[in-house]
Amino acid sequence: MRLILLGPPGGGKGTQARLLAERYNIPQISTGDILRDAVKNATELGKKAREFMDKGMLVPDDVVIGIIEDRIQLPDCGNGFILDGFPRTVKQAESLDAELRDLSLKIDVVLDLLVDFDELNKRLSGRRTCGNCGKGYHLETSPPRNEGICDSCGGNLIQRDDDKSETIKKRLEVFQENTEPLRGYYKKRGILRQQKGQGDIQNIFQDICRAIEGL
Ligand code: AMP
Repeated sequence: MRLILLGPPGGGKGTQARLLAERYNIPQISTGDILRDAVKNATELGKKAREFMDKGMLVPDDVVIGIIEDRIQLPDCGNGFILDGFPRTVKQAESLDAELRDLSLKIDVVLDLLVDFDELNKRLSGRRTCGNCGKGYHLETSPPRNEGICDSCGGNLIQRDDDKSETIKKRLEVFQENTEPLRGYYKKRGILRQQKGQGDIQNIFQDICRAIEGL
């Protein structure tokens, strides 16, 4: 099964992608995670990506397209994959279509998580992540037991640079301008499924699974 998770920053794509990856035993491929790793390791890719990420802008299409072209051909994608955060522009979607055509593969479903902008702002500004194990927290809705410290491993919680308020605003604008048009793109192809992305995480997950299993 090949899935795309569409939806705004803070819409819960990463959370749902992790749950789906476990349930269907296929890899979660997050361009955001791949790029953050590259930044952390100060690779050439990371140096190139950082200047865009820090400003809340998209990394150029050719860079992310190259990453995905290679990634979806690795052996662990034999039974499918979940794309989390890719594509984000029509050009990326067209390149993905072309590659999948060459490989005689297709996307089964594009899940679009719908969350209103006020809620996104709240989610992104309160979001914290363990710098050690990657576990996610929210200052209001799922705070750690001890401020700034991960419940699971005792690591320090950090705020992503691009979750600071000015950058959040930019990321949401970039989403509206570049990524929202993909709703129409995939609707035309008959594979878009829109899902409420607000409420209990497990309930949202069950709704998504029902949509997938009813295909
Ligand atoms: P995310 O973790 O998905 O919110 O991504 C964090 C940042 O990585 C984005 O704000 C972009 O700067 C960059 N990024 C991730 N995926 C893409 C993509 N498909 N195209 C361009 N930039 C991306």
